[in-house]
Amino acid sequence: MNGAVLYGPRDIRFVERQDPTIVESTDAIIRTSAVCVCGSDLWPYRGVDPITRPTPMGHEYCGIVEEVGSDVRIVKPGQFVVGSFFASDNTCPICRAGYQSRCVNAEPIGALGAQAPFLRVPHADGTLVATPDIPPDDLIPSLLAASDVLGTGWFAADAAAAGPGKTVVIVGDGAVGLLGVLSAKQMGAERIVAMSRHEERQRLAREFGATDIVTERGDEGVARIKDMTDGLGAHSVVEAVGTQESMLQAIRSTRPGGHVGFVGVTHGVALPGLELFYAEVHLLGGPAPVRRYLPELIDLIWNRTIDPGKVFDQTLPLEQVAEGYRAMDERRAIKTLLVPA
Ligand SMILES: [Zn+2]
Repeated sequence: MNGAVLYGPRDIRFVERQDPTIVESTDAIIRTSAVCVCGSDLWPYRGVDPITRPTPMGHEYCGIVEEVGSDVRIVKPGQFVVGSFFASDNTCPICRAGYQSRCVNAEPIGALGAQAPFLRVPHADGTLVATPDIPPDDLIPSLLAASDVLGTGWFAADAAAAGPGKTVVIVGDGAVGLLGVLSAKQMGAERIVAMSRHEERQRLAREFGATDIVTERGDEGVARIKDMTDGLGAHSVVEAVGTQESMLQAIRSTRPGGHVGFVGVTHGVALPGLELFYAEVHLLGGPAPVRRYLPELIDLIWNRTIDPGKVFDQTLPLEQVAEGYRAMDERRAIKTLLVPA
């Protein structure tokens, strides 16, 4: 098969890769129905995360189970499944507490390269969730979104304690931030403030449930949030970027006793201790335990309560993966869906 392989900064190629096979008896092989490019893929693509050897890319996926190992009991060939970007056994104490992304046996799907027509998924029974039936084509983008961006936005809103009566601020207008808006809306937030200066993304944020748009960032952005909340700051803030500026903007926009859910993969973030001490906010973040939310998210998509697939504003054949990365890198696309041949 051919799949996406990163060779160096901005050098991604659709090249021959070995067909995946069952390695462990708990593995499954799936034929991907759709995959996509993640905002976090742009860190290595831009050379911020160094690449030392040709690296298969991609960690968001959904598709049909082709084959399972001899110890797989729940997942069956022929099922349509969605999985998280971390494979997890879903049985260890960390998984049972709901933090499957940090499973003691976690394996990153990114290392297996999901931007390909076939994918080996470790811990199939713990990782994959089957849909009630083979989905109609128009649900596939939303089911794919559940694999990471929606699951991550949902975790961020949950970690930020979004809910009825709350003012929720979203820092970051990428796909995760936009789906953080959708998640906060679904959780019943009263006021949802999207911080964005990009017209197309503001429009989608409003469609997903944002009540207010703030275009200022940094200290000016924080001042605007304070103005809107009687000088107190928001109850809940989602951080979906991962830079020093965005992290401080999120913490400083939160009122004492409020919650920050941070899911942008941090790069060069160092928090000032004394400021953090007196901020007196709850901080919870990290790689989202998407597996915890998958059954609920699949249900909301299946009964058409939510339509997170709207974040995909570009669809390409998988062989044009290089153009998909370019479009996202240049912010011409919010998120690119790739369809294997
Ligand atoms: Zn586990």
